[in-house]
Amino acid sequence: MDIRETLRRNLEKIEEQITSACEQAGRDRGEVTLVAVTKSVNIEVAAALLELGVSNLGESRPQELWRKAAALPQARWHLVGHLQRNKVARTLPLVVLIHSVDSERLLRALEEEGRERNRVADVLLEFNLSGESSKHGFAAADEPRLPDVLAEVQYVRVRGLMTLAPLGTDHETARPTFARLRELRDRLAIRLLGTPHTLHHLSMGMSGDFRGAILEGATLIRIGTALFTGLPDVSTTELPKSLD
Ligand SMILES: *Cc1c(COP(=O)(O)O)cnc(C)c1O
Repeated sequence: MDIRETLRRNLEKIEEQITSACEQAGRDRGEVTLVAVTKSVNIEVAAALLELGVSNLGESRPQELWRKAAALPQARWHLVGHLQRNKVARTLPLVVLIHSVDSERLLRALEEEGRERNRVADVLLEFNLSGESSKHGFAAADEPRLPDVLAEVQYVRVRGLMTLAPLGTDHETARPTFARLRELRDRLAIRLLGTPHTLHHLSMGMSGDFRGAILEGATLIRIGTALFTGLPDVSTTELPKSLD
């Protein structure tokens, strides 16, 4: 079966699951945007996704995003993984949203770059709610001081929050983590009323747990594996796998 047909079938199945989760949650399908995370596939597959109408594509590594965005500038690119400060300048002009602002230092680097270019960056704050030390992100304990931190930035607009469920969880067991992110968002949003930071978005849910995420209010789901099952070997990237 060719790449396009496999993708079309996978997409159809995922779309059914998104629709049914939305129904179960009493939410409109239009409230949830699928971001296809293309880190495990080559440019040809990413291009086929665009042709199938998936316009939001995500990458977890800045260098790989630069490479794919150069080939596919028509996509709406999302950075979903860690951004090193020395890669901010090159990444900012390429993306519609950075999901993974995981420290005050990065926030300040984005502010500086935005000020230089006189361009506002839309971002999400990444929270590590599982306490796994392998993960980047703000901790729940950072919540109280965030409004003061965000009052200092003019060229970064926080559009919401992002998290990854603990490793090895599924749709049901991941739900408490997603619920915590929503509750955190609700509290912060109130404290940020009247500022440019609106916190509309919740980026949560991947291939193994996106239905649970939709039930807890996800507006952006980041899906890779489920889209690409059954494809012939299309793995890509010029960098060694071990860097993932
Ligand atoms: C790879 C990745 C995804 C997609 O994960 P799948 O399990 O393949 O769907 C989502 N979010 C982030 C941050 C990722 O790195």
